[in-house]
Amino acid sequence: MSDKYDIIVLGGGPGGYVAAIRAAQLGAKVALIEKDKLGGTCLNRGCIPTKALIACTNLYDKIRQSENYGIKTSNASIDLKHVIDRKNKIVEKIVKGVEFLLQKNKIDFIYGTGKVLEPGKVEISTPDSHKLPCLPAGRLVVSRKLILATGSSPASLPGINFDGIRFLSSDNLLDYNELPEKLDIVGGGIIGIHFAQIYSSLGCEITIYEAMPEILPGIDEEIITTVKRILKRKNINIITGTIFDPKKANEKTLICIGRTPNTQGIENLNLKMDRKSVFVNEKMEASIPGVYAVGDLVSRKMLAHVAYEQGVIAAENAMGLNRTFNYDCVPFGIYTSPEIGSVGLTEKEARLRQGFGGQAGENIKVGRFPFAALGIAQAIGEIEGSIKVVSDGEGKILGVHILGLEATTLIGIATVAIKHNLKVDQLAETFHAHPTYPEGLQEAALNVLRRSIHIIN
Ligand code: FAD
Repeated sequence: MSDKYDIIVLGGGPGGYVAAIRAAQLGAKVALIEKDKLGGTCLNRGCIPTKALIACTNLYDKIRQSENYGIKTSNASIDLKHVIDRKNKIVEKIVKGVEFLLQKNKIDFIYGTGKVLEPGKVEISTPDSHKLPCLPAGRLVVSRKLILATGSSPASLPGINFDGIRFLSSDNLLDYNELPEKLDIVGGGIIGIHFAQIYSSLGCEITIYEAMPEILPGIDEEIITTVKRILKRKNINIITGTIFDPKKANEKTLICIGRTPNTQGIENLNLKMDRKSVFVNEKMEASIPGVYAVGDLVSRKMLAHVAYEQGVIAAENAMGLNRTFNYDCVPFGIYTSPEIGSVGLTEKEARLRQGFGGQAGENIKVGRFPFAALGIAQAIGEIEGSIKVVSDGEGKILGVHILGLEATTLIGIATVAIKHNLKVDQLAETFHAHPTYPEGLQEAALNVLRRSIHIIN
């Protein structure tokens, strides 16, 4: 291992490891510094572990409804320890996969806490939670370019520390193998709703407290209305427009009110900030030449695939290419049951945006298609939800919003359509295999044009 590199990447989460791989592909000599586990929040404490848990609770729910399918099961029960062990094994396997990719791309993985002394000069020290063999503390590594990808950590309420006993962060709850009777969840955003979903299936009594007038900010209003009805049916209590009072906290309170960018270790750079995030331009360049920043550290949308893409763009720009990132077409999935998939503008956002342009938003067109009208949804027995397509007056697709089984996969087709500026008639005239969910997307596009076949226009 040398001490001189073309590029040092600080942080081995989705933003960092992808940046490192892309830079290495382009011929750079790269070092990746990580103080905890490769894969960062997404792989160890976020996307993958939550989905591994949701896979178990969804199956558990399905087994309990099996009589609807003519299958008799009795006394189904869930072994939480096994569920957590399964989740841990999945995570371990993928972390090893990332390690393998780094090796094959000849990236020097340095396990340690990085402190940037000045642009291109990083001091490594032993991490607090010392899990792997480490380099001697105080070692210096230097590089021509620096990519910062230090991610984010759970934010707490003023005056409350995550003690892991009464006040929990999402990190704490992922490894709990004892089920609380009651769980209060502070924050009705994506992460809060994910945990409400998991723990209500496990039999916990859930109350969600949201300070804003509505849960799931940024989600299409019609979807929110249906999701609230579904959550209510699962006995999840939702209290909106109310500031949570910690003094009245139950036996366990999960706080997921947002995440704070991790700026420890990069303070010496005195980078320009955008509130608590590091400021970057669309090339992912921070305010000092040769320094790039990506992922949750900078992002208006804290999502793993945003971090991946920003990582690629930072690496390519650091290697002399000219790429830019914008937030116009960022899909996302929420693993409620059924799922939510969304990309582009909501109907409300589209109408507001048109309004700013001088028009009143009446040119916006909307098409819908209910899952209940899809043959495959009837056959599978999952008919809840609908697909909504929003377009402008010229037929440009502005947004697609889906609630229903496989919505997180289905949204991929809509993402391709929006990214490549497809028009509604192009989506409407692309037919799909029968019986499948994409048929619903075609029908929702046909509905924008008032040419629906399987519903009355
Ligand atoms: P991180 O993943 O946070 O990685 C940063 C890494 O940098 C960490 O490993 C950290 O240890 C390391 N680091 C920090 N400082 C230093 C230092 N000084 N020296 C060395 N190493 C350092 N996103 C989705 O797209 N889909 C989902 O379904 C989804 N589900 C989520 C569920 C939960 C419960 C949570 C919490 C998040 C979820 N996310 C999801 C968000 C996603 O995890 C993040 O957007 C993503 O991990 C951000 O990647 P990153 O590389 O910017 O940061």
